[in-house]
Formats: sequence, C-alpha cells, structure tokens
Amino acid sequence: MTVSLDYDEYDLGSMTWEDAGEALETADMVVLPTGSIEQHSKHLPVTVDTLRAENLTRELVEAAPERGLSMVRLPTLPYGYSEHHMTYPGTITLGADTYQSVLEEIGASMAEHGADRLAIVNCHGGNRSPMKLAADRLQRDHGIEVYPIHWTEYGREQLVEEFGEGWGHAGDHETSVIELFHPDWCGKTKRSRRPRRPTTRSNSTSTSRTSPNRAVSATRRTPTPSSCEKSSPTPHNGSSTRLSPIWSSNAE
Ligand SMILES: [Zn+2]
Repeated sequence: MTVSLDYDEYDLGSMTWEDAGEALETADMVVLPTGSIEQHSKHLPVTVDTLRAENLTRELVEAAPERGLSMVRLPTLPYGYSEHHMTYPGTITLGADTYQSVLEEIGASMAEHGADRLAIVNCHGGNRSPMKLAADRLQRDHGIEVYPIHWTEYGREQLVEEFGEGWGHAGDHETSVIELFHPDWCGKTKRSRRPRRPTTRSNSTSTSRTSPNRAVSATRRTPTPSSCEKSSPTPHNGSSTRLSPIWSSNAE
C-alpha cells in the first residue's frame, strides 16, 4: 500500500528543511488551510470542508505570483471544532481550547522559522471563534501577522447569485464541489454503487477520481448547481431522530 500526499513545489510538505528555511524567510506569506471532519448530510463525505479549504488554498497560492507575491502552503489541518455535529458518526472534533492551541503552535512554529505573515484559509464556521483567539495571541506573543480568512467573507454575494439560498451546509455549493473533485463520492446511493472495501488501493483511485492537477484547473470554472441527489432537508432542532442529517441553507 502506498501513501501519496498531493504536494507541489510551493508546499511545505514537499520541501527539505533547508529549502523550507529559505522559503519561510523569503515568502510574503505562509497559508494554512483549515477544514473539518463532520457530517454533511447523507449524500456527502465528512471531509467536505477540508477538501474545499485545500483546493481553495491551492488556487490562492498559485495565483499569488500574478500579484507579485510568493506564498508557502502548509499541510492542511483537517480537524476542526465540530462539537455541534457530534451526534453524527464520523464527526471528529477537537475541543475549542485544543483547536486554539493547535493553531497557536503551528503559527508559533512558523514565526520561529522566520515567517512574517500567516493567512488561515478557513472553510468551517465552527472554527472561527477559537481561530480568532489564536490569531490574537500569535500576534501579541510571537510577532507574526495573522489573517484568519473565512471563505464566505469574500464570496457570499456570488454564492447567493449562483446557488440561491441553498448554498449553505451540505447544500448545492458543497455538493457541486464534491461533484467536481470526487464525483464518485457524491450521492446517497453511493454504497450500493461501490464496494465498501476495495480490493486494492489502485482500484479505488484509477478510474473516476479527478486527478489533483486536473481538479485545480477544473475548479477555475464556475461551479454549477448540483445534479447529485441531495438528502431531504431536516431541521437541526434536536427533536427528530438521532441520525437525522442536517441540511441547512444558512449554516456555513
Ligand atoms: Zn461544510
């Protein structure tokens, strides 16, 4: 079994320590993608937010040279603060204090190695409060400028324009992103279409998953409303059955 991480030359994950030392000293900014591992209704995988953060950050870092900037992308932090989703199996949450500490220690490490600015590209609303506290402490105690960037702060109007009010958690936008990058992961009938245990790793990756490089160029197209069958909306009021999926038009 092989392990493959999708890194390019601008990724810290592809650098030796000597290369990293030079890159961190000279980069205008290091960028940390942050997501979550949490339920996204019955038709999407738990990694939606993490996949979005990773791919959005890739676009940002690749566009930076056109603006005369150089950026180093850090390995994506997949886990977030998702206690409000713990009713649903598959959700993994860090405590708020733990999450804040993880961000602080990542930022402090970067500051120690000479980075001047840290952007955090966040695609999960639950992360915002501990992230704000971590950013404040990093700037105060470690002298690194920190910019927490929540994805909807710069795209809300376009989201509404493209997807209407159904763009939110597990809605049309997130569904379209999974259709774009991993169409075989989308749809509540997935389990009936795919074996639960692929016999080899190559069988599970060789045909239908979009390759990383193709996915990058594909994401520059305007996402279109999803044709993937969504689960029925269920209000998150705690009064329905334990496993009722959340589908919300206003959650982020
Ligand atoms: Zn999400």
